[in-house]
Amino acid sequence: MPLMNFSDKRRASILPPTTHTPMAIPSDRVPQNVPGRLYVDSSCIDCDLCRETAPSLFARFDEGGYSYVHHQPTTPEEIALAQEAIEGCPVEAIGNDGDDKDAA
Ligand code: SF4
Repeated sequence: MPLMNFSDKRRASILPPTTHTPMAIPSDRVPQNVPGRLYVDSSCIDCDLCRETAPSLFARFDEGGYSYVHHQPTTPEEIALAQEAIEGCPVEAIGNDGDDKDAA
């Protein structure tokens, strides 16, 4: 199967739910997340990328073996890090209920 280019990925993101890559699901948030718009859902595979990218925002729940949001981003720098983590998560387990202009 050939690799998808960026346009293919964008196209895939608007396909019906049965065929597109899953997005974070708000109702599936892990319970350790602090309240707020940024969250991790239960599809986290504990790859560590978000914790490496934004340790001020994400932590590991050792008993469960997954990440959660321990601090909601408030500064422009934290918001940028949150967005970077969202985009980098390999299984799209990080969600943002807010709109883009005040992201994360
Ligand atoms: S980047 Fe995604 S899969 Fe990896 S630890 Fe963070 S939430 Fe989990």
